[in-house]
Amino acid sequence: MKKFVLAIVLLFCFLFFMGNSPRAVHAESTVTIGTGGVTGVFYQAGGAIARIVNKKRHEYGIRCVVESTDGSVYNIDAVISGILDFGLAQGDRQHQAAFGGAEWEGRGPQRDLRSMFSLYAEACTLVAAVDSGINTIADMRGKRVNLGHPGSGHRQNSIDALNAAGIDYKKDIIAKELKPLEASRLLKAGGIDAFFYTVGHPTGAIIDATSGKKKVKIIPMPVIAKKLVNDVHPYYVKTKIPIKYYRNAANDADIETFGVKATLVTSVKASNMLAYAIAKEIFENMRQFKSLHVAFQGLDKTKMLENMSARIHPGAMRYYKEAGLK
Ligand code: GLU
Repeated sequence: MKKFVLAIVLLFCFLFFMGNSPRAVHAESTVTIGTGGVTGVFYQAGGAIARIVNKKRHEYGIRCVVESTDGSVYNIDAVISGILDFGLAQGDRQHQAAFGGAEWEGRGPQRDLRSMFSLYAEACTLVAAVDSGINTIADMRGKRVNLGHPGSGHRQNSIDALNAAGIDYKKDIIAKELKPLEASRLLKAGGIDAFFYTVGHPTGAIIDATSGKKKVKIIPMPVIAKKLVNDVHPYYVKTKIPIKYYRNAANDADIETFGVKATLVTSVKASNMLAYAIAKEIFENMRQFKSLHVAFQGLDKTKMLENMSARIHPGAMRYYKEAGLK
């Protein structure tokens, strides 16, 4: 009996000391962030969020991990179904999901989707081989063009741009659905004439595409941008791709095009504590966040609460109110 009591006392002592050791304050739970391809900027953005939030992982009891995924459309569906906790998504795809349009047509508004914040601008980038003879989007008829893979956000931007030019992607071009890096490789090898990619700049796949032996050009789309911004969709904005990032491209000036904002989304399933922690750590460590990629340099806290169509997660909203941002 004495031995039994002693064992119990020792067990309690052990649990007490374990409980007071800093590492055991919380059992860490893993929080997943869906991004895009590893050469894109979504991947960098997810990595930057994880890096900053994980500094406080003992305090919050969470550890963020980044997953490479197909992109916006996949991420939105994955956070809603609970496969991912957070995901990067183009603001235009967030809008369509929230209102049940485009990829979500027939499935209705995605009411469980929640927004966290907006980040940097992504520009719809049309890259073409100079020897394809493509100088404007109107020259794309009959060409082999990569629109983007299913699950990506840019696939629908490509279709919107072609539609605005009066080109039916099902009939007027030879459409491909490859990932950006595969598209870049194939462009350099002469297997396709052009590819679309909506992405922050500078980015690996475009550097890769413009750095081969084959002369490659980024095609300006000023007329399409005007049309899309004025007549068609509320979420497109005019933007420019700085040519300084792609010195080997056969362009001599910044490229006019249209774009969207990259955003972070989650769902009603995320706890208030979790959404609060992520919003707070990113907003309060903004200087460090901005230093992690050139595309993040222009971030502005007030603008980061714009371009969101899904309801802001209440946990994140609690932080924005505390910080006087809402
Ligand atoms: N905008 C792209 C998408 O939604 C991803 C861009 C990136 O990976 O940076 O699929």
